[in-house]
Order: sequence, then structure tokens, then C-alpha cells
Amino acid sequence: MAGSLPPVGVLALQGDFREHLAVLAGLGADARPIRRAEELAEVEGLVIPGGESTVMDKLSRAFGLAEPLIAAIGSGMPVYGTCAGLIMIADCVLDAIEGQQSLGGLDIAVRRNAFGSQLDSFETDLDVPALGDPPMHAVFIRAPIVERLGADVTALASLDDGRVVAVEQGAMIGTSFHPEMTGDTRFHEYFLDKVRGRA
Ligand code: GLN
Repeated sequence: MAGSLPPVGVLALQGDFREHLAVLAGLGADARPIRRAEELAEVEGLVIPGGESTVMDKLSRAFGLAEPLIAAIGSGMPVYGTCAGLIMIADCVLDAIEGQQSLGGLDIAVRRNAFGSQLDSFETDLDVPALGDPPMHAVFIRAPIVERLGADVTALASLDDGRVVAVEQGAMIGTSFHPEMTGDTRFHEYFLDKVRGRA
């Protein structure tokens, strides 16, 4: 598995970055926590974890990481964002808090906390044709929904009502849910395939 795989990073400012590091290490990757621009410069792929996008946004700017992250995304580095991470890479964030910014890169509009307070979290099985069988068990926690997809964006998975919860655009993938929590490593493998393809 490791083979020609360059080091990959997990943005480690806030959220469940440890879980992503564990999944990637389990797949044989040299996975590193990223908190500084110098660390970002050493990796060739990045996972942005779930957590709280408003906090991640503030910390990334306070740590001087926002600009290097935007540059890395712009250079075509493979990036996988889960939940708050998906919000961070969306070009447009709906129901953002005052002053909240995203890094952007993914031509989508995403709505934060789209399931409202009555349904903060839930689990369901999703068909993800790009990843094959079986369906993926998906955990949603105060999750966002993708409300608009640009012309170059592909929906990878939708809920039964048609709302999009996983997308891909070039080297970028995003999921509203948390594969790092369920032991299903197919999205992380898909991400590592993109890193390997670019190396
Ligand atoms: N609601 C959170 C946000 O807006 C995301 C929740 C999560 O990452 N599980 O950032």
C-alpha cells in the first residue's frame, strides 16, 4: 500500500483529526498532523476533519495557515474534507456566522447545520456508486448539506430525498458525514489514490 505514497497531512487545529490520522496510518500512509505552514509544505495531500468550521476558520487565520492552505488547494493538492472540513473547502457557506470565511476551492454552496436542532445527528446507509458495494454506513453530526453544485462538481452520494452529501471536483472530495468513525476506509483510500495519482 505505502509504495510511492508521499506524506499526507490532517489539519490538526481542532476537531477529530486524531481519528483521521489513525485511519490513514492504518492504510499505510505517512500521515502527519498539520498546524503550521512549514508542516503543510511537506505533504502532498490534506484531510480537513470534522469539528466546528467557525473555530477552524478562526484558528487557521490566527495561525497564518489560511493563505498557505488556499495556495495549496489552488495548486491542485488532493484534499478531502469531512463535515466541518467540507464547509472549509466550499466556495460558498450558507448559514455561516458573522465574519466566517472558508478556504474555498470546491465550487459548491453548503448549508451549515442543515438538519436543524430536532435532528442533530443520525445514521443511515448510503449508496456510493464510485466506491462500489456495499452501501456505506454514514454518521451525520450537525451536518451540512450541499445545496448547489458547480458544473465541474460530481455528486458521489445523496440521501433518499435527493439531498447531496458527498461530492468530488478534480482532486477534491467532500462528505457531510464521518467515515473516520465507522471503520469504512473507502473514502480515505479514494483520497490516497488521488495523492498517489498526482505523485
Ligand atoms: N456544524 C459544524 C460546523 O458548522 C460541523 C459539524 C461536524 O463537523 N460534525 O462546522
